[in-house]
Amino acid sequence: MPPPPHHHHEIPLSRPSITAHEERLVLEVLRSGRLSIGPMVERFEQLTAERVGVRHAVACSSGTAGLHMVMSALGIGPGDEVITTPFSFIASANAILYVGAKPVFVDICPKTLNADPELIEQAVNPRTKAILAVEAFGNPAHMEAYARIAAKHEIVLVEDCCEALGTKHNGRQAGSFGRAGVFGYYPNKQITTGEGGMVVTNDDRLADLCRSLRNQGRAVAGHGSVAPGSTAGAWLQHERLGFNYRLSEIAAAVGVGQMERFDEIVAARQRVANRYMQRLLDVNDLILPTVPEGAEMSWFVFVVRLAAGFTREERDRIIQGMRNHDIGAADYFPCIHLQPFYRRAYGFKEGDFPISESVSNRTIAVPFFAEMTDREIDLVGQTLEVMISREGLARR
Ligand SMILES: *Cc1c(COP(=O)(O)O)cnc(C)c1O
Repeated sequence: MPPPPHHHHEIPLSRPSITAHEERLVLEVLRSGRLSIGPMVERFEQLTAERVGVRHAVACSSGTAGLHMVMSALGIGPGDEVITTPFSFIASANAILYVGAKPVFVDICPKTLNADPELIEQAVNPRTKAILAVEAFGNPAHMEAYARIAAKHEIVLVEDCCEALGTKHNGRQAGSFGRAGVFGYYPNKQITTGEGGMVVTNDDRLADLCRSLRNQGRAVAGHGSVAPGSTAGAWLQHERLGFNYRLSEIAAAVGVGQMERFDEIVAARQRVANRYMQRLLDVNDLILPTVPEGAEMSWFVFVVRLAAGFTREERDRIIQGMRNHDIGAADYFPCIHLQPFYRRAYGFKEGDFPISESVSNRTIAVPFFAEMTDREIDLVGQTLEVMISREGLARR
């Protein structure tokens, strides 16, 4: 058995950027005695709302929880359809299933790896309630087109921007294109809180609903959640079916520290991306990530693609070869519709979304994190190059 992608390699696939600044903030929380529903969550929310340029940010326990809350708050449910991409992490489509609605997949554009706007337009029908768009690997391409389609058909655009915090397109921040956006803070994202997520929106009602849903359906007073012992006296009043999707103060402290260092973290990621681009530019049979015109990327991962003609087996051997050299590598992302659960429950099969499948069979995520040294980047580049040419030779 190959080690899982989370196995610790000498050069890991990802590694969070945590400094003494985050440590100080966490200690501050631990010593305050206030470990949940407190000022750190509010600070984290405010920093995020300012960064994204939206009125509201609602912290929650994961990106997946955030997506679930947004689907719920929009009143999407059984009988409704939501158009989305099969080329994503499984959480984006699962959020549609959580509320009993039907994910309608459309194939992707082979250059940007995001859902093809023309196919979205064709998939809209009277049951369509929303487009759940994903910035695949943080690429913001087509978000403006999706927003136009949503407006034209009077449906909602939701952004699963879990991979795109800090990415801009034509001056607009990821998370600000749709009615709501959702970020995730798992340790491989641009910034982390260990586990965590954030809903961002300009819609006052949607924000209040999410604040209530994350807190067991309790009423919302002003901007904070009604806390035990507050004068509102509504702590045990539950107005709707809610969840416990709160983010702890400890996690929020890490988030505040990360947001305060955000520009530094993104600049470091940009440096690593630039060096990979230079190092891999001339490698035969390799397609590098594209950055759309007008975009500034914050770089979630660095995913390269083998040229058309390479098989999935060859790609898998290259990944295994990297791992054998103690370098993290992964097959981001297997198509959602081909996951065992989706095949079994919904009858999806190979060939349903040929572009997604062909791309997904040839992608390789290589180690990518802010503190990567030039030496490490060059070693990854060299190893990748050797593995690719080895496969090429074996074929001839
Ligand atoms: C990371 C991610 C999520 C959320 O993941 P959590 O682990 O629940 O925070 C959702 N969608 C996409 C596309 C992601 O990459």
